[in-house]
Amino acid sequence: MSTTAKTASPFPTLGATSPFLPGRNATHDRHVELDQIRTGEMGSVHSWELVTAVDGPGTRLTFFLAGCGLRCQYCHNPDTWQKRNGTLMTIDEVMKRVLRYKAVFKATGGGVTLSGGEPMMQAAFVRQIFRACKENGIHTALDTCGFLGVRATDDILDDLDLCLLDVKSGIPETYKIVTTRELEPTLVFGRRLAARGTRTWVRFVLVPGLTDAVENVEAVAEYAASISSVVERVEVLPFHQMGRDKWHELGLHYQLEDAKPPSYELLERVRGQFRDRGLTVY
Ligand code: SF4
Repeated sequence: MSTTAKTASPFPTLGATSPFLPGRNATHDRHVELDQIRTGEMGSVHSWELVTAVDGPGTRLTFFLAGCGLRCQYCHNPDTWQKRNGTLMTIDEVMKRVLRYKAVFKATGGGVTLSGGEPMMQAAFVRQIFRACKENGIHTALDTCGFLGVRATDDILDDLDLCLLDVKSGIPETYKIVTTRELEPTLVFGRRLAARGTRTWVRFVLVPGLTDAVENVEAVAEYAASISSVVERVEVLPFHQMGRDKWHELGLHYQLEDAKPPSYELLERVRGQFRDRGLTVY
């Protein structure tokens, strides 16, 4: 999940004729593409942007990979949910773009962040991108909800410098209402990060009337504290309505039509709950 609303990349969509394999017939091209997708040499990218002070330290090139199995009520980017709505990019194309900013990453302590959608929907692609980044001395971050943490092989985690772990609620029933999915895989993944010593930032989206119950926040705080050996910070992200138009454009039922951003007092209460556990909070 990202914290900002995205615009689509200028590349053709997955359904379009591949521009990368000219001079071959369509069936052959599709076979080659499928093979490249399977091995992670090619993947579906919704968009990318150069950002500073979000999605990890320094200036970052964030790629929003297409595809997500959750359906969070507050999703800012429902247009990233379907893999077929992304555009195919090869590793070489991704890295060509990345390497343009190598000096900027070095000067700012930044790097590459893979976000989405849910990047682990394309685990093989993530693995290839992170490997190529590490070969080039570039810092890597993964913005994930953790639901598909079982797909994160040790290879991937070996090449991961920072995990932005979105813990969308601490009470399983609330998590299911918020995301339509189960909480447990996220908790298991976070514990695995802790066991490996992978630096982690826990992120929690605060939505009045949905995620703000004291006991729900308390459960997230307790969990974050239980893996505090790797949690460098907790980011409490205030809900906003910047994604609403996308839900409308896609003809999706948006349940948070009347939800308001949290008040300053509510934000401080929630941040205080994390601070009380000895966590560093932003
Ligand atoms: S995990 Fe939730 S917020 Fe993130 S892209 Fe999927 S539905 Fe949207």
